[in-house]
Amino acid sequence: MSDTISFPLKQSDIPTHWYNILPDFPEPLPPPLHPGTKKPVTLEDMTAIFPENIVMQEMSPERYIEIPEPVREIYALWRPTPLLRAVRLEKALNTPAHIYYKYEGVSPGGSHKPNTAIPQAYYNKQAGTKRLTTETGAGQWGSSLALGCQLFGIECVVYMVKVSYHQKPYRKMMMHTWGASVHASPSSNTAYGRSVLEKDPECPGSLGMAISEAIEDAVKSKNTKYSLGSVLNHVCMHQTVIGLECLKQMEMAGESPDVVIGCVGGGSNFAGIAFPFVKEKIAGKTNCRIVAVEPALCASLTQGELRYDFGDTAETTPLMMMYTLGHNFMPPKIHAGGLRYHGMAPTVSHLAKLKLIDAVAVAQTKAFESAVLFARTEGIIPAPETSHAICAAVDEAIKAREEGKKRVILFNFSGHGMMDLSSYDSFLAGHLQNA
Ligand SMILES: *Cc1c(COP(=O)(O)O)cnc(C)c1O
Repeated sequence: MSDTISFPLKQSDIPTHWYNILPDFPEPLPPPLHPGTKKPVTLEDMTAIFPENIVMQEMSPERYIEIPEPVREIYALWRPTPLLRAVRLEKALNTPAHIYYKYEGVSPGGSHKPNTAIPQAYYNKQAGTKRLTTETGAGQWGSSLALGCQLFGIECVVYMVKVSYHQKPYRKMMMHTWGASVHASPSSNTAYGRSVLEKDPECPGSLGMAISEAIEDAVKSKNTKYSLGSVLNHVCMHQTVIGLECLKQMEMAGESPDVVIGCVGGGSNFAGIAFPFVKEKIAGKTNCRIVAVEPALCASLTQGELRYDFGDTAETTPLMMMYTLGHNFMPPKIHAGGLRYHGMAPTVSHLAKLKLIDAVAVAQTKAFESAVLFARTEGIIPAPETSHAICAAVDEAIKAREEGKKRVILFNFSGHGMMDLSSYDSFLAGHLQNA
């Protein structure tokens, strides 16, 4: 009898509630501060850019929050997502470890990001928002929000980091297909964008700058709100559908993970798979290691400082307590565009501080080596971001071989790489910076 490699759930297994980690922290999370007064932000501060229903969720003390039925109906287009066991990868590594991966690449956007884009569009629609602005790097988030807005009938305006706008045109085409308008950031659309262009007309842009532009647009325009694709509590919470499904699927597999792994940019897909396991860990039901994997060239958890910092370059967001490389840090142009962010979600930072999770940094060439090994054994071509998680899973599997111990490894496969094939081209041609 061959090994079972697939653990499918039914539509009725889509979680009915998201898991909110805030009430389970052994120490309370330091609150976000107003950038001017340095006092904890109030509901009124936040509703300048977010609708009230989302702000309430951001600050909610409830452990479980019900997923609205219209959101679950859209989730059903691709959820529950597959949990697979990578037996061909195990064999290639000659490891006694069992490697499981949760495949989030089956969403229309190709990554985990629609898990939060859909509810964010839904709540904005409920609150009467007519137009949503956001930023995007390589375009995974912008395209996901474009889809969410399209499904709920909201206009979507995306500020896309200029270098990606020109180098990675396909996700811009996805955004257009789903009805969004896209500006290359820095743009002449906002006062902040114009001020940057005046100093440096060739500025390639950054996520921090694009956030500043999107917020300025939202504050200055009628019936317009802003949406963020990672970092914030409610975003991380929406992603917990990933880990909640995994708990059921690992039970079907009859195993429980010794190590749970996710790559981290702003921290949301990691939070999604990790938080439900952190809950079990805090409750003493598991002693698994939980590992966040970041790129060596933008390593906020392993090389940053834990302090209050801004989420954007123009210093308009609330100050958040997080591991940060500094809000003016210009990340190198690594291919994992989704991991090029200077800070880390406050919830993920807090878990790192409390030593409930570990962090490792991985060089991008090593990540691509693992990605190619994965593609050649398991078939799926991973997103460059995901390849960081794969790399850590492979390292764990090799360690298990060396120690001659069985180990159960679970990682989040955050997205496929079919829109990022040019980075495989660079890697295979030997053109990637070895860092
Ligand atoms: C955006 C993205 C990431 C990083 O963002 P997080 O908020 O840290 O999850 C990782 N993987 C993929 C495929 C992405 O699109």
